[in-house]
Amino acid sequence: MVAVGGGGTLDVAKWSATMVGLPFVAVATNLAHDGIASPVSVLESEGRKRSYGAHLPIGVVVDLDLVASGPVEHVRSGIGDAVSNLSAVADWLLAASERDERVDGLAVSLARTAAAAVIGSSGETASEEFLTTLADALVISGTAMSVAGTSHPCSGACHEISHAIDALFPGTALHGEQVAVGAMFSSFLRGSPDLDHIGDCLQRHGVARLPSDLGLTNAQLAEAALAAPGTRPDRYTILEHLALDPDEMRRRVDAFVEAVDR
Ligand SMILES: [Zn+2]
Repeated sequence: MVAVGGGGTLDVAKWSATMVGLPFVAVATNLAHDGIASPVSVLESEGRKRSYGAHLPIGVVVDLDLVASGPVEHVRSGIGDAVSNLSAVADWLLAASERDERVDGLAVSLARTAAAAVIGSSGETASEEFLTTLADALVISGTAMSVAGTSHPCSGACHEISHAIDALFPGTALHGEQVAVGAMFSSFLRGSPDLDHIGDCLQRHGVARLPSDLGLTNAQLAEAALAAPGTRPDRYTILEHLALDPDEMRRRVDAFVEAVDR
């Protein structure tokens, strides 16, 4: 089975190919997220999005001319999804030390490498050089999830916050830009130097870093961060670890915005 299109099209085809046992080739027309080569299909049923396990594509084709001529928001979303791996890996390692969860070292290396490649690339957002790096990074992220057998290396508090934004404030922004803000805030909560590494890259490419970049208030981001753990009850991240009350969460969001928005 060969599917040509964006995330929704590829996810439906990936799931269908898995169901009938056919090999699957993904021809991606945008680079908006790391689902182009992941073992996960996000499908919507009765208004609810759910993730389903699927087979990895045997091949991925990306038409960079098409990507470059498409909306820059899609590229920005892909950047956010790729660099958020640093935050997701930090959550995974936290879950390992606090709850003895199993961590796969190869998956960690792959996920970090994907993020570092995007952060380290100095190319312009729509340049062939940068888009090639981004495409590689998104495919490597998918491979990391496949090696791990879970989405842990690419999805932590950053993604929980994005899922909560989807539920509370539907239609806010594309997945990767919400995830980018989630990764920034999570890195701030950890006191991690990743905050600057991720932030510099996002700023260079005009990707959202702050709630206001998404059209959200500080109070709305705090609300989403409080609701975030409920979106993945099985996952342990910095949010579950700190378990902040509403007042403290609001204070941390304000401090985060002040620290980044200098
Ligand atoms: Zn994602």
